Amino acid sequence: MTITVKGRVIGPENPLTIAGPCAVESEEQLEATAQLLNTLQIPFLRGGTFKPRTHAQSFQGLGEKGLRILSTTAQRHKLVSVTEVLSESQLELAAPYVDMIQVGARSMFNYPLLRAIGRRRIPLLLKRGFGATIDEWVAAADYVAREGNQTIVLCERGIRTYTQSSRFTLDIAAIPLVKVRSPYPCIVDPSHAAGSQELVLPLSRAGLAAGADGVMIEVHPDPSQALSDGSQSLDFATFSAVMRHLAPLLVPTPQGVPGSLTALRAQIDSVDEALHRLLSCRFALVREIGQIKRQLSLPVEDRAREEAILDALKKRASFFDHSPAFISRLYALIFQEAKRRQKEG
Ligand code: PEP
Ligand code: MN
Repeated sequence: MTITVKGRVIGPENPLTIAGPCAVESEEQLEATAQLLNTLQIPFLRGGTFKPRTHAQSFQGLGEKGLRILSTTAQRHKLVSVTEVLSESQLELAAPYVDMIQVGARSMFNYPLLRAIGRRRIPLLLKRGFGATIDEWVAAADYVAREGNQTIVLCERGIRTYTQSSRFTLDIAAIPLVKVRSPYPCIVDPSHAAGSQELVLPLSRAGLAAGADGVMIEVHPDPSQALSDGSQSLDFATFSAVMRHLAPLLVPTPQGVPGSLTALRAQIDSVDEALHRLLSCRFALVREIGQIKRQLSLPVEDRAREEAILDALKKRASFFDHSPAFISRLYALIFQEAKRRQKEG
């Protein structure tokens, strides 16, 4: 099932990316984040305004002031806004400001809240409770649907297990399982499962490989100063790099009638898009290598390295049903472009 939020289609054919800070902290913070999202063509801006914190003395979110910042920033940048509410009264306050409501892991069992979201017919991002079974999660979505609201996106964000190596344990199997047991798209939140920055990319990859329909990632202009979840929030440069690495996995893949000309052409289009994104990853790495070469005063051209790459690829050419001659021609072009870019600096 595909769902539409503010004109944006979400589902297996259209992977969703939601990004933003754990909590809205200031206009400047959210403005900078929104600009980054626009540059990266990410349409959904998240920002907590009512934070469910373990400790009562911790920062609880800016409340309505945060909602105003989220709403004006999202509108200014034509982004779709997402925020979490913990109660029905917060829902009443937040609904006029935002495009999508998040029910967090701690509230998945709050049935009166789910019913109220159902009645309000506002798009919902429903996280799995960290102690909830898949069936309980599916049943929670049903509370919303039964009130007439089927605009639901599920989100796997990690469950509690005995491990203390990560904040939670991302339940990879839950992603394909929930997609069989319920009709809604399911995305993955690597940030809360990870609890640390370096796990965000591998967990995103794992979730997408398992069939997640997108990702939600926390990003902050200065994670060391974040008022919540700084340890898992990515700075802008890291986030941009992570998104570049994920781009080949976030390609729209239109379905259509299997085997028909239109469906096959649509698949070709999405393979071309993936190639495009992979090439962009490759040239980003080329640029970084170019910087190192410059620092070490090494020449841009490295014939031995080119030969080694070609040799390795040609050895595996027949496995991929490519001819070595085709690989040589293709890489002549790629190497030429890579060197041009490194020379440019
Ligand atoms: C969040 O998304 O900021 C959040 C609190 O997530 P969770 O409910 O998954 O802990
Ligand atoms: Mn958070």
